[in-house]
Amino acid sequence: MAIERTFSIIKPDATARNLTGAVNAMIEQAGLRIIAQKRVRIPRNQAETFYGVHKARPFFGELVDFMISGPVVVQVLEGENAIAKYREIMGATDPSKAAPNTIRKAHAKSIGENSVHGSDAPDTAAQEIAQFFAGNEIVG
Ligand code: ATP
Ligand code: MG
Repeated sequence: MAIERTFSIIKPDATARNLTGAVNAMIEQAGLRIIAQKRVRIPRNQAETFYGVHKARPFFGELVDFMISGPVVVQVLEGENAIAKYREIMGATDPSKAAPNTIRKAHAKSIGENSVHGSDAPDTAAQEIAQFFAGNEIVG
């Protein structure tokens, strides 16, 4: 298995409830290393670009409004098989369908306000990391 990097967002519902540390503990417990991290507010145009793949979906407007509703913590995670591993510990998009001991099962409020984002493939991971971090902000 290869060492990979993936992009993570701790979403506004989680930062609002002071869950940054709780989410980070689950990430580190799973063996992933947080090699870049910053707390930001995402501008509307950047949120629209980031979730552009969902533009035609009925929840797109709600999703963008949510992602800009408060601070988020953006991160780069590194480890063996990091992309799939993070998706696994995040759990299903809908927390009522998420497996036990996943971040979304433990913390998500709803299918929309679901606490975390993780990249779904190597190409999107690379694009998403580059959208939020300069090379010298990532220290592996
Ligand atoms: P993410 O891309 O944030 O990691 P995901 O890959 O599990 O989540 P996607 O299908 O890519 O799920 O949906 C992106 C985000 O859009 C979800 O995380 C959630 O916040 C929101 N979303 C998805 N489906 C719905 C829905 N039916 N109603 C409201 N919001 C939704
Ligand atoms: Mg997705």
